[in-house]
Amino acid sequence: MRFTQPAYPTVYFSTLIWVRCPNCNMAAKVETNLGKLTIPEPQQHQSTLKCSGCGLIKTHNELWYGLYQGHLSIACGFCGSHLNYTTKPSKNIKTKAAKTCEVCNKEKEYALQWYKFKQDFAIDPYFGLDLYLQVNIKENVFWVYNIDHLKYLRHYVSSTLREGYGRHKYSLITNLPQWIKAAKNRELIVKKIRFFRK
Ligand SMILES: [Zn+2]
Ligand SMILES: [Zn+2]
Repeated sequence: MRFTQPAYPTVYFSTLIWVRCPNCNMAAKVETNLGKLTIPEPQQHQSTLKCSGCGLIKTHNELWYGLYQGHLSIACGFCGSHLNYTTKPSKNIKTKAAKTCEVCNKEKEYALQWYKFKQDFAIDPYFGLDLYLQVNIKENVFWVYNIDHLKYLRHYVSSTLREGYGRHKYSLITNLPQWIKAAKNRELIVKKIRFFRK
């Protein structure tokens, strides 16, 4: 079978994302109006979280359910050497962290800057909620935003001929992890996602 779908960017599928409701744990929807943007710039988008199970409705503003990461990039208060430090991703935001300078060995408290942690891709990029459609395959997580996204990836994974469609740098396929692209995992992935429904 040949893969004949267009080279969509991931953001193409991000107008509807099934997430786990932070209130009742059932499937909830994140709907986003992307306008004409083709590259994710979540702050500029209008997203709404809606759960038909418990009635929760939230609008994307500064609401972030995911993890945060603290950063420090500052001159040592004693010797002026540059200090770089990044915390583990966490929900627990501390305003300051004690850091020992590697040059002069003196410790001091510095103010941290906190950012939304988005490197964990099994979350939605707008509210930071866990994706509803995810399944463990060996040590990896296979995730999709919605059923169209699932069908698209299922078509790709099942295809033995994958060349010849227009690849580009934002193409979802170009950015897929190697374990999904690997031919040796084809059968296992297809089997695992067969019963994988909302
Ligand atoms: Zn709910
Ligand atoms: Zn120092």
